[in-house]
Amino acid sequence: MQSHPPTPAILHIAVDTPLHSRVGALLSYQHSQQLPPGSLVRVPLGRRELLGVVWDAPPPARALDASIPLRPIACALASAASEAAPGLPPQPPPLSPLSPAWRQLVAFAARYYQRSLGEVATMALPPLLRKTSPAQLQRRLQKAQKSTAASNSKSGNSGKSGKQALAQTLAQAPATAPPLSDEQAAVCQRILADAGPFLLYGSTGSGKTEVYLHIAHTLLSAQPQAQVLVLVPEINLTPQLLARFEARFCPQWGAQAVVSLHSGLTEAQRLNHWLAAHLGQARIVLGTRMAILASLPQLALIVVDEEHDPSFKQEEGARYHARDLALWRGKHEGAKVILGSATPSLESWHACTTGRYQRLDMPSRVGAAALPQVRLLPMHQWPKNTWLAPPLLQAMTKRVERGAQSLVLLNRRGFAPVLFCADCGWKSDCPHCSAHQVFHKSERRLRCHHCSASQPVPRHCPSCGNADILPLGAGTQQLQEALEQQLRNVQRPDGQPARIARIDADTTQGKDQLQQLLADMHSGAIDVLVGTQMVAKGHDFRRISLVAAVQADAALYSSDFRAPERLFSLLLQAAGRAGRDAQFMAAQSSQAQMWVQTHQAEHPLYQALQAHDYPRFAQQQLQERQEAGMPPFVFQALLRADAKTQEAAQDFLRTAAALGQALAAAQGVFIYPPIPLAVQRVANIERAQMLLEAGSRTALQRFLQAWQPSLHQLRGQHKSLVRWLVDVDPQSL
Ligand code: ADP
Ligand code: ZN
Ligand code: ZN
Repeated sequence: MQSHPPTPAILHIAVDTPLHSRVGALLSYQHSQQLPPGSLVRVPLGRRELLGVVWDAPPPARALDASIPLRPIACALASAASEAAPGLPPQPPPLSPLSPAWRQLVAFAARYYQRSLGEVATMALPPLLRKTSPAQLQRRLQKAQKSTAASNSKSGNSGKSGKQALAQTLAQAPATAPPLSDEQAAVCQRILADAGPFLLYGSTGSGKTEVYLHIAHTLLSAQPQAQVLVLVPEINLTPQLLARFEARFCPQWGAQAVVSLHSGLTEAQRLNHWLAAHLGQARIVLGTRMAILASLPQLALIVVDEEHDPSFKQEEGARYHARDLALWRGKHEGAKVILGSATPSLESWHACTTGRYQRLDMPSRVGAAALPQVRLLPMHQWPKNTWLAPPLLQAMTKRVERGAQSLVLLNRRGFAPVLFCADCGWKSDCPHCSAHQVFHKSERRLRCHHCSASQPVPRHCPSCGNADILPLGAGTQQLQEALEQQLRNVQRPDGQPARIARIDADTTQGKDQLQQLLADMHSGAIDVLVGTQMVAKGHDFRRISLVAAVQADAALYSSDFRAPERLFSLLLQAAGRAGRDAQFMAAQSSQAQMWVQTHQAEHPLYQALQAHDYPRFAQQQLQERQEAGMPPFVFQALLRADAKTQEAAQDFLRTAAALGQALAAAQGVFIYPPIPLAVQRVANIERAQMLLEAGSRTALQRFLQAWQPSLHQLRGQHKSLVRWLVDVDPQSL
């Protein structure tokens, strides 16, 4: 057979390069042959070699200058069969190109969030692809085809103790589905019958996860190729959930049927899991927000668990919201979308009232377990500096003695948020930020939680020499210490002293530490658990009968209009950790309780919390927002500028506003004056932002698209600008 030399082709490739960061910009290369759109390649750029994706259309408007020869690509990662050297054994089929649906998702995300195609495409791919050679990738593919090599977190845990802890969790997860409750059955019926999207509004412990499992099982059984994506806020916090999915699906569909995708994986694991999803071997992908951009050629269902959780919004680079992308993706790929929460975001709640989402309710807890009784503890009855009220300590004591657990929530880590000199007023300010350095007692250091700068605690006041500098306010470290002190003579039923542990970012830096603490909590080795919001999320603890919130009021004074919503959901989620096991509670012959120490017991937020009345809270918040013209009734974006001086940052914003004024007026977009951020300076960089608001999403999008070129141009004229960015649908102001 005669073979013709292939005709050289021009490829248009999405590459992540800051120099060409305009939205939609593609770079052109040549190659010995045409590669289908979606093919993965590596291309030279300057002296570097970057990962790229062959894209559909030629670069718009910019005509190719035929006199400049195009550089050839460095290599095609998904090598076409024709590239196999003659005489070698037959190659496995090449990596199939990324699907048109995936490319549309990436293009939409890039456009909507004002980033370049190349950046979003690259971000969506496993980092190891940037370094893997075609031969290495081929070997990996071969292996993937032969075996079910997916490793999930089982091999992600390096330490022995963590592995054992996880093994225990796994052993507890049953492989067979329990019969659905009536509420669960009714909800499942609707989900299977209707198009959605659905908001599953179910109390904590109402069995939402069981609904996800049931729907996933039904869809996967009906379609042998179908895939399911489950998004969760943080996988490491809830190894239980992964265990439940594995226990339920792996016996039937093999070990590789369930894979996880999150930043805690090694690069090799992440690539393997990504490949398993792309090849269709993984039927269920359980991941954090990044997983929304995974390649899932046969996507049939997307679940966003705890859809209200702020962690679904990426707060750097491309600032996408995984829940919002999930809705877009579901619609465009014909996949069902279920958002689940006991405290839905006000955006989603509002979408149900306008009929855009279908709301499904599960008010009851599984197995007749009762929701905890909420007690507001007015703190003015005790001296000003009391931060654990005596009745609360007594209640905890009783729990320890009866073998029940307590959870204490304080959403501030460290020992004290600031050190203070009573003589001269000195405070432990961070030299690089407009923030205090936090006192970490165990390391005897002051540490800035914004820039991470740290230093030893001074022996004397650096300003007046006074030897008596004091911690002001309290963090989780101090709370733990105080509890250890106050409960030191309390005994568990086994005669052992009470054990107090802490879960926050400081005690869980090694992955195994967290697994161990969670395992100890599940086994009952811990009596009182102190922690930040990390302890409030999703855990199915079985023996907690008391949850307490300490110093929650602070959030009521926040300038961010979302603070009440966040506080309410944090407290209700925390409450939801108590009394999850009806049998255990019956044996305790006590009722599960949530105590909130407050100076604002009359506050409507607390009143709604006490009644477990999320709908009342949501309605009242939505009304306020409507009256004040805030999301979800308007749509917002932020233009942020960081510079050496606040003046320079604001200057950029003002010029940008002037350039956009006419466009904004035409689209009905309102541009607010620039202001400094709440924490104005971080790591010696001054930060400012400018709020943009519109009555419709489309108007805001049109304006942003039209405005963007001027911003890119403007950047060059502002030499002292460090960076600028657009945050669409910002989640914190
Ligand atoms: P949620 O996700 O709403 O907080 P879960 O799905 O974790 O609730 O369910 C809470 C507990 O109830 C879990 O331990 C789960 O195994 C159990 N459970 C859920 N549904 C059922 C059911 N139909 N029958 C028996 N136990 C169930
Ligand atoms: Zn002093
Ligand atoms: Zn700092």
